[in-house]
Amino acid sequence: MTTALPTPPAPQRPLTGRVALVTGSTSGIGLAIAEELASLGATVVVNGSGSSPAKIKDGERIASSIVERTTSKASFVAADLKDPLAAAKLVAETVRRFGEIDILVNNAGIQHVAPIQDFPDEKWVEILALNLSAAFHATKAVIPAMKARGWGRIVNVASAHSLVASPMKSAYVSAKHGLLGLTKTVALEVAEHGITVNALCPGYVLTPLVEKQIPDTAKARGMTEDEVVREVLLKAQPTRKFVTPEEVAAAAAFLCSDGARSITGIALPIDGGWTAQ
Ligand code: NAD
Repeated sequence: MTTALPTPPAPQRPLTGRVALVTGSTSGIGLAIAEELASLGATVVVNGSGSSPAKIKDGERIASSIVERTTSKASFVAADLKDPLAAAKLVAETVRRFGEIDILVNNAGIQHVAPIQDFPDEKWVEILALNLSAAFHATKAVIPAMKARGWGRIVNVASAHSLVASPMKSAYVSAKHGLLGLTKTVALEVAEHGITVNALCPGYVLTPLVEKQIPDTAKARGMTEDEVVREVLLKAQPTRKFVTPEEVAAAAAFLCSDGARSITGIALPIDGGWTAQ
């Protein structure tokens, strides 16, 4: 006679019970990070800037597809993080929906390529607002509750341009260097509270952000688009390959793990050797 053995419970995923807010996660690197954290069991809030009905529908479709693929909870919240008040509202809405934020990924970012003398003043203001100030406002808003719980992970999607410069990117390089300064400062302030704050520094990743700058760089440098990819973008990366969004997401997931609890205040290059030169 055979006795049926009870089915063992499904193993708990490492981020089960954690709530993650990933800014700028309707596309590219942010989307890959949201999917990776959800696949590890986290509940994720997906964010993008558009508040038109079409953009909201698109964001909700992205969140639903994360739920289908990962079985974790996911929800979309629109917020234009260039607005200095928007990050705190996004944090408050995430807490209203899911009760807390354990993981904050400051990822939303934009780029503009032009020589300094032609650099539009409004692009300077927008890039600083989104790529740097939004991370400050969101971090400020999540820290008190993380401190109270004694656990938190803040991952700032910085850039190889936090470590080195390239011409034609005055606002972006300034904002990304600033984001690394913010990362280190907050890491020191919260180190005794179980909270880590780190910066990922990707090289070139082929996302809409990079695709859009290829024609501008071609125009600014008098090159063809193929020459820009070969002679400007991939020339910087000794691997001669684009970094993938999934590779950046894997690093983000590691920094969110318990095993990474002693890693804080770092700039982690994911750049095919670019900044080793
Ligand atoms: P992307 O254009 O694919 O995605 C940008 C995301 O930000 C989108 O979800 C978009 O909706 C969102 N966004 C744009 N404006 C916003 C706003 N005002 N408010 C809220 N969200 C807004 O870009 P990506 O390449 O995935 O870039 C993501 C991050 O990675 C950026 O911070 C970028 O600087 C950084 N990064 C990218 C590369 C690269 O080569 N692609 C390299 C290093 C760092």
